[in-house]
Amino acid sequence: MQQRPDAGQIDTKAVQKRILKIESLLSRFYGVPKQSAKRQHPLDVLIGTILSQNTNDKNSYKAFLNLKERYETWDEVADLSSRQLESLIKIAGLGKQKAKAILGVLHTLKETGDYSLNHLRKLPDKEVLDYLTAFEGVGVKTASCVLLFSLRKNVCPVDTHVNRTVARLGIYSSSNPEKTFWFLFDIMPDTIAHSFHTNLIRLGREYCFPTNPACAQCPLLKICPYEEKNLDENTKTRFNDFMLLDNLH
Ligand code: SF4
Repeated sequence: MQQRPDAGQIDTKAVQKRILKIESLLSRFYGVPKQSAKRQHPLDVLIGTILSQNTNDKNSYKAFLNLKERYETWDEVADLSSRQLESLIKIAGLGKQKAKAILGVLHTLKETGDYSLNHLRKLPDKEVLDYLTAFEGVGVKTASCVLLFSLRKNVCPVDTHVNRTVARLGIYSSSNPEKTFWFLFDIMPDTIAHSFHTNLIRLGREYCFPTNPACAQCPLLKICPYEEKNLDENTKTRFNDFMLLDNLH
C-alpha cells in the first residue's frame, strides 16, 4: 500500500522553492554531480541497488563486480544456485536474502526471454514502480533508483540519508522513507532530482550524521531549521564521493 501524504496540507510552491534553494547551495558547494557518461542498463541498476541494501557503496560495488567480471550475461547468473550466488555476493552482506531477490528477478525475466527491460522506457514512472515492486525483495527505493539512474527520470529515491536530511532541512518529516518518497515524487521541480538526491546523500555521509552532525562546518547551516544542531567546531567531517549507482559499468 502506498504511504502517500495528504496533498491538501502541502504548500507546494513554498516546498519547491525550498528544494531549489537547497539544490542550488549544494551544487555550489559540491558541484553538479556527474551522471555516468554511458546510460546504465536497467537490470544492472536493479541488481546493483539490491546489492546495496544495508551496506556501503564500496562493498556492494565489489559484490557487483564479482558477478560482472565472472559472467558475461545475467542469463548465466540466473543459472547459479542460491548458495553459489550467496557466496559470490557475501561481501555486501545479507547474502541469502539478496541472492533470493536477485534470482527471483532473473528467473522471471528468463521465462519472458527478455533481460533488456526495454519496455520500461516507454512506461509512465508510476507504472515502472508498480512493475518493479511486484518482484519479491524489490521495494520503492530500489525501483526508484532504476528510474533515476538508468531511465534518467526526474525522481528522487529516498534512503536513510535523504530521509534524515530532508526532515532536518524542513522539507518533509516522516520516520517512513516511503512516505517521504511519495511526497517528493509529487512535487520535485523539473530536472534537478539527480543532483538533489546525490548531493543530499553526500551531505548525509559527510556532515549530517544521524548523531552528532557536523553542523558548524555544514554548507547549509545558515538555512537549516533543525533545532538540535551540534555546533561543536571540532566535530570530524568525512569524505565520501563514490556513488555506486553512477558507476555500474
Ligand atoms: S546544519 Fe546540521 S542538521 Fe542542518 S543539514 Fe547541516 S549538518 Fe544537517
